[in-house]
Amino acid sequence: MKSTGDRVANAAVAGTGLMLAAFLVFYLGSWGDDETRQYLTDLIHVPISLVFTLLALRVVVHGGRTVQARRAWVLITAAFFCRFASQVSWFVEDAMMHRTAYPAYADYWMILYVPLMFVGLLLMPAARRSRIDRIKLTLDALIVAAGTFMVLWYLLLGPIFVSRNVPIGQVAYSAALPMGDLLLVLALAMLLMRRTGSGDPAIVMLAGAVAMFVIADVGYGYLQLHVGFAGGSWPDLFWLGGGFLMVLAAHRTYWSGRGAPDQNGRSARVNWLPYGAIALAYGILGYLAREQGMYPLGGMIIGAILMTALVIARQMYVLRENQDLAVTDPLTGLPNRALINTRIAALAAQPARSGRCHAVMLIDLDKFKPINDVYGHEAGDAVLEAAAVTLRTAIRAGDTAGRLGGDEFAVILRDLPDRGAVERVAQRLVGALRTPIVFGEVVLCVEASIGVAIHDALHPVSPDLLLRQADLAMYTAKRSGRSRYQVYTPDLDPGGRAAELRSAIENGDLIVHYQPVVALGSGETTAVEALVRWEHRERGLLPPADFLDLAEETGVIVPLGEWMLRESCRQAAEWHDRIPAAAHLDLSVNLSAQQVMQEGLPGVVAAILDDTGFPAERLILEITEGVVLDADDKLVTRLEELRDSGVRIAVDDFGTGYSALGCLRRLPIGILKIDGSLTAGLPGDATARQLAEAVIRLGQIFAMEVVAEGIETAEQARTLRDLGCERGQGFHLYHPMPAAYAVEALGEHAGRR
Ligand code: C2E
Ligand code: CA
Ligand code: CA
Repeated sequence: MKSTGDRVANAAVAGTGLMLAAFLVFYLGSWGDDETRQYLTDLIHVPISLVFTLLALRVVVHGGRTVQARRAWVLITAAFFCRFASQVSWFVEDAMMHRTAYPAYADYWMILYVPLMFVGLLLMPAARRSRIDRIKLTLDALIVAAGTFMVLWYLLLGPIFVSRNVPIGQVAYSAALPMGDLLLVLALAMLLMRRTGSGDPAIVMLAGAVAMFVIADVGYGYLQLHVGFAGGSWPDLFWLGGGFLMVLAAHRTYWSGRGAPDQNGRSARVNWLPYGAIALAYGILGYLAREQGMYPLGGMIIGAILMTALVIARQMYVLRENQDLAVTDPLTGLPNRALINTRIAALAAQPARSGRCHAVMLIDLDKFKPINDVYGHEAGDAVLEAAAVTLRTAIRAGDTAGRLGGDEFAVILRDLPDRGAVERVAQRLVGALRTPIVFGEVVLCVEASIGVAIHDALHPVSPDLLLRQADLAMYTAKRSGRSRYQVYTPDLDPGGRAAELRSAIENGDLIVHYQPVVALGSGETTAVEALVRWEHRERGLLPPADFLDLAEETGVIVPLGEWMLRESCRQAAEWHDRIPAAAHLDLSVNLSAQQVMQEGLPGVVAAILDDTGFPAERLILEITEGVVLDADDKLVTRLEELRDSGVRIAVDDFGTGYSALGCLRRLPIGILKIDGSLTAGLPGDATARQLAEAVIRLGQIFAMEVVAEGIETAEQARTLRDLGCERGQGFHLYHPMPAAYAVEALGEHAGRR
């Protein structure tokens, strides 16, 4: 959305550009006589300086910047206004009145421009920095200024200094102009080095503008001093170019002020500014030395240049050393965590080439702590040093091994042909790190667990992601026995897997299998137990053992259980309606401990029964022994509420745990399910037989129905029936099966014995 103001501003910028282009064609095409050229040149400065003054004013009024930036732009606008006033004045003096006074009135405005611009540039906002940084910055800026000074001295200040018979006013102005420019160069250097030189185009344009003005000013002063100056000479081109850059800078600042905040930080390119200034200064010196002859000045100058170069080299070397110190681990000499992190960031930002991959390995020494504790820190250090040597020698030249701290190391591998190659390196490292270390008279044995994250994406990934994956993999390697490596796969990540399971519920990837519960006497199917399955899109049909732990740990078990209840009730209600033989079929659904702990459980069950139309009297909820044991009053009330609604409660896996009799009596339990492990002992195992018998008696005493699970043989079925168990479940009778097959089983049961 552009306002009228925006449109006018855009038109002004475009108009200025067009005008300037037309002027350049006219000027460079050498059209018109000298007077016309002078007149036109002087004239065109006026609208351009007017436009940049107005645009700067607009930044101040509407720019939406920080207070500090706005303050800077107030001063810059004032400076711009001085330029504008100077241009108007010059037009009158030079083009209309042909006054040749030097300094001209216009020049006084120019002198005013300098301090305003200087302070304005210095006030531009920049990142907070430390005291040392500020000192370094000032020194660098001073180096730039000193280099510029040498140029100015050669061109302007020197000649003024040695000139005789020049009026004092001219000397003063001719000296003030370059000195002012020097100030501006200083401010500019500070500004450029304080900010991203390439980050903010407006600042670069402003810098370019001021630099062009400096060149023009110096040219102007030089010409005035030696041959006189009239509008239309070459410095005018620099003033005009600078003026246009100012227009662009002000315009650009207005827009960037509304959008992204200022970027801070110093770009590497700008760091070379001081060295550039030194090179420039010495260029002039060398040039002069050639004119001077080698003795005495020439040789001295060469010596001075050499000395400076050496000092710079030394400084750079110290810098390198400091940087190295900051990024190496003192004990092992390997890159430290800071450097490893930068390397990982670089690796993550680099997409893998098609088919190839990068890898990050996190290595944790196993059993390091006991060595440290038992043999002392020196032994620990020896182990770490040995591990560092092993790592360094086991990887290729372009790869990085580093120490993250403690007994944790990292290895970064670039551009390997495939995952297999990564695994081979990991395996090699595991083997190499297993080598015992001789320390004095003891032989120390450490091993390492390695977690590997492979980056084979064709796009950049986040470094944190790689680190997290490697960390998870390392943790898994440690848990599954140490001295091994583990490559990260999504299923190591409980968060990721839980999310996967959650979306499986939503996408309908879970299904229900039904296992009939059979009356052992008649063979009639009296109930079905609903058992969850996951039809995984990649891994095929998964049994509950593969994902229920995860569901329990992450709480996904609650929505999962609710889904199971709803889905199986819906299915069973349909059977009730459709299949005459299933009219009295019970449905048994497992509840996890977490579900039973839910305050709202009776409400949830009631709502599902209501929605599906399945009768409460036909529903059995299975809870485990653990729940029975932990039951508090609230839970008892909750279960009673369920019982009162007509639902029956079964205790699953009975006989494996420690259900106290007292607990059994306290809870409204209608069914006991004899655990499959007891059934498995039948009929041979006497203890199993006695236990099974005891449970069956117990059921009779408490008037509970008893269901035997895991019946795999006809003998087991017979034994249980003889012991008085009425119902059973197991592979001998029926396997759990999909709903479609369960229908058939229901139909066929009548004839079954
Ligand atoms: P469970 O409740 O004790 O279920 C009986 C398990 O024994 C089922 O395993 C069943 O397939 C298996 N089984 C049935 N007959 C035989 C047999 O003759 N021999 C042997 N060896 N096994 C037999 P499944 O389906 O793998 O379920 C395992 C467990 O997962 C279940 O044990 C139950 O604790 C849990 N589970 C299954 N579905 C759900 C559910 O929807 N919610 C909750 N909370 N837990 C569930
Ligand atoms: Ca069960
Ligand atoms: Ca069971």
